[in-house]
Amino acid sequence: MPVYDYRCNSCGREVSLFYKTYKDYDAATPACPHCGSSDLERMITNVALQTGSRNYTGMTSGDMLSVLEGGNHHEVNELFRQSGQDAASTVQQAEVIKDAKDSAANSSKPATSSE
Ligand SMILES: [Zn+2]
Repeated sequence: MPVYDYRCNSCGREVSLFYKTYKDYDAATPACPHCGSSDLERMITNVALQTGSRNYTGMTSGDMLSVLEGGNHHEVNELFRQSGQDAASTVQQAEVIKDAKDSAANSSKPATSSE
């Protein structure tokens, strides 16, 4: 899902707009959710940063993980394509996150003994 960051020239807030597809983005006229102004300036902050940072064009690790866990090959491919990262390292990263999540879930879960 494409996400675009804008700064509203009318109220000065930073807004993130979500689109289901790139086609939707092309068709849409972005408007500020705070003041309704369409005087939005696109902020290009994440694009073209191929420095090996974990900034997957605005994706959080949670989003990334949910894509990987979702098992939708198209989305996963898209994620890799957009991130420009090596697929293996991305998966490895997600596994680390997942492990952390799993162990957190296990420790917070009351032990149910079925003996
Ligand atoms: Zn505004």
